[in-house]
Amino acid sequence: MSVTHAPQTADVLTRQDPELAEILLGELHRQSSTLQLIAAENFCSPAVLAALGSALANKYAEGYPGARHHGGCEIVDVAERLAVDRAKSLFGAEHANVQSHSGSSAVLAAYAALLRPGDTVLALGLPYGGHLTHGSPANFSGRWFDFVGYGVDAETGLIDHDQVRTLARTHRPKAIVCGSIAYPRHIDYAFFREVADEVGAYLIADAAHPIGLVAGGAAPSPVPYADVVCATTHKVLRGPRGGMILCGGDLAERVDRAVFPFTQGGAQMHTIAAKAVAFGEAATPAFAAYAHQVVANARVLAAALADEGLVVTTGGTDTHLVTADPAPLGVDGRTARGRLAAAGLVLDCCALPHADTRGLRLGTAAVTTQGMAAIEMERIAALLAGVVRGEVESVRAREEVRDLVGGFPPYPA
Ligand SMILES: *Cc1c(COP(=O)(O)O)cnc(C)c1O
Repeated sequence: MSVTHAPQTADVLTRQDPELAEILLGELHRQSSTLQLIAAENFCSPAVLAALGSALANKYAEGYPGARHHGGCEIVDVAERLAVDRAKSLFGAEHANVQSHSGSSAVLAAYAALLRPGDTVLALGLPYGGHLTHGSPANFSGRWFDFVGYGVDAETGLIDHDQVRTLARTHRPKAIVCGSIAYPRHIDYAFFREVADEVGAYLIADAAHPIGLVAGGAAPSPVPYADVVCATTHKVLRGPRGGMILCGGDLAERVDRAVFPFTQGGAQMHTIAAKAVAFGEAATPAFAAYAHQVVANARVLAAALADEGLVVTTGGTDTHLVTADPAPLGVDGRTARGRLAAAGLVLDCCALPHADTRGLRLGTAAVTTQGMAAIEMERIAALLAGVVRGEVESVRAREEVRDLVGGFPPYPA
């Protein structure tokens, strides 16, 4: 008997709802036939997809293992305990909550655990790579808390530590947030801990992006320094779409209650099972090799883009992230992204520190999962620059993309 109904379901779906089945196949084809350079995306494994498509999707499970508000949870309790134990051991954390539905939900819960509405929070400003949950007026964070933003140095693009310290001393925040959607360098968690201690603030690390590199030993861990670490499971970590929170035992109960019942209802047990699968994968030597290759690829990509004339923020990268200004090639980020999308290179725009125009944000997590290495990074950079300059026509670029990805199917048959 198959442990998952996913394969059968695929057949059932084709027969029962060919209209939707065709949409799913179309998306699989899009992902396989174009270049996925969105820094927050990846290809999770067939095992993770199988857990997501399992009968656990049917189960209601409010509460925590051993203390649920619903009956029949004895088996899903085992799945959640497994996910929690694997997360704790993978990251060396005293406590893990694996129920957050997304990275944003995890941040919301972290704030709920530690703050009260109106509290002051110091975080990387949105123009410098802060996330919406770091004080955007369009987000709950900006509405309910008083955010003060630190920035990056105009010359180096590196986080301005002097400014962080000065703002912390001036505003005496209740919490300091470190973490970004676009910062390509390692974050100095020891520095942030020191400042937080000096002003009596909690330190919240929003490690949504680098947590997969941390799992593979390719980036420093925030766990020994931050009071609470928020993360996603679907970025470099390569698990299902979702969030998690790591913290010390002293905050465990506050964090758990902030997730459920304060900000969420029933846990998504199929996703939690898939998180357990992903944590298991991330604990292997193969994943460590993957994480290091992700960084090596990003370094090659950054250097090759710089050779093509783009201005690479901070002059390079320590992570999977590369952000660059295409202005020297004659266009801004928005125009560049449009041309690249038409050519089959899928990536995002991002804010550029100290510039009015937008830049490009790329990541190497997905292409590295596909098996691409340095040679492919150089090909991607050359193609990208040719397309942005308008030298390579979309049709020819699409052929080159097909040729590139053809040898690296994300889900080999
Ligand atoms: C991706 C990200 C999030 C949000 O994750 P979602 O799952 O999209 O809600 C939060 N913070 C940072 C720094 C991120 O990069």
